[in-house]
Amino acid sequence: MKLLRDKVMTEGIVLGDQVLKVDSFLNHQMDPLLMKEIGREFARRFQDEGITRILTIESSGIAPAIMTAMELGVPMIFARKHKSLTLKDNIYVEKVYSFTKRESNEITVSKKFLQEGDRILIIDDFLANGEAAFGLARIAEQAGASVAGIGIVIEKSFQPGAGLLQKAGYRVDSLVRIASLENGTVSFVEEVHG
Ligand code: 5GP
Repeated sequence: MKLLRDKVMTEGIVLGDQVLKVDSFLNHQMDPLLMKEIGREFARRFQDEGITRILTIESSGIAPAIMTAMELGVPMIFARKHKSLTLKDNIYVEKVYSFTKRESNEITVSKKFLQEGDRILIIDDFLANGEAAFGLARIAEQAGASVAGIGIVIEKSFQPGAGLLQKAGYRVDSLVRIASLENGTVSFVEEVHG
């Protein structure tokens, strides 16, 4: 997605060889027009999949997920990372190791909002080792729902997540794919058009 690629090139800040900071449009300040285009693009890619719900994880997954949900005309649910006083019973729980925080979180989703037979599209901002996406997929599957695919805004293809998810049988659709962050430079995976 060219718009997003340009944004990553002009505003992304490389931290070490592993982490990309995009707090000017995705992880802190958010760019609504870009989010709208992202939602359109995910909706276009998954429009024939019979999606009934979008599932993401707070907080940075919420914006692309809600825009996708709006385009597809379905509800969006975000898994919580912190225990909520009002969300204690009747929940699905999965352990997820956080790439950026270097700690394990228990992520939770209320059983009220996922149903057997649901066709789930998982959306997240970044894909690194696949922990968050696998955790969300396990929650969907606990509910008896099926995972139609995983839509990622920025995939770091030099990390194992995308490969592991594909090997496990999931469709992974990433809007931009980063081949390397070495030497402070963002290199993209060459897209084959045609
Ligand atoms: P994974 O669970 O695939 O190992 O990592 C994905 C999660 O970690 C995403 O939800 C995202 O919040 C965070 N993350 C992973 N890599 C990066 C990165 O390079 N930059 C930012 N901003 N977040 C990242």
